[in-house]
Amino acid sequence: MARYTGPVCRLCRREGMKLYLKGEKCYTEKCPVHKRPVPPGMHAQSRRKPSEFGVRLREKQKLRRIYGVLETQFKTYFRQAAKAKGVTGVRLLQLLETRLDNVVYRLGFATSRKEARQMVLHGHVGINGHKVTIPSFQVKPGQVIAPTARGREHPRVKELAQTGLRTLPSWLEFNSTALEGRVLALPAREEIDVPVSEQLIVEHYSR
Ligand code: SF4
Repeated sequence: MARYTGPVCRLCRREGMKLYLKGEKCYTEKCPVHKRPVPPGMHAQSRRKPSEFGVRLREKQKLRRIYGVLETQFKTYFRQAAKAKGVTGVRLLQLLETRLDNVVYRLGFATSRKEARQMVLHGHVGINGHKVTIPSFQVKPGQVIAPTARGREHPRVKELAQTGLRTLPSWLEFNSTALEGRVLALPAREEIDVPVSEQLIVEHYSR
């Protein structure tokens, strides 16, 4: 499975904001967005004002990087969203938000989407009692997400069991005794806290 393997903090600096790609480091003073709040590259500070195309492109890149999705797969999500009923931009966000790796992250089993993806790939997560190793698996309302027997031995899961939860979005619920989460419904736009303008992304692909 292809994925970006370069330095992720560089991606945040490129977008000029924290994308929270590194887990715990993102919440500390060591975050490079605080330490070096300029875009990467030698001539970064001499760049001209971005064009309209540039603004829309950056918005698309930002969303893609937040969820750790490569260009080809992102285009596939966009095509699916455009074909589906409803507002294309919101549908696109829902498709990204209901990826299994994102749901694992939102439930607090991992401190970043990257870590969540690793947990899924290594067979630490199950849906309705069955192991699923596909990070892009689309979780549906009513499905139960829980660590597998092996997953329960994962340090993050043990930590979660001991210390409790991060704040959950309202479209998810979590049973801390059984250590399992459930998707209650597809998230509404206001329940998806990603700082992007999805309309600009729709315009980018519609040009
Ligand atoms: Fe981005 Fe986190 Fe790196 Fe800060 S520490 S630049 S938020 S990935």
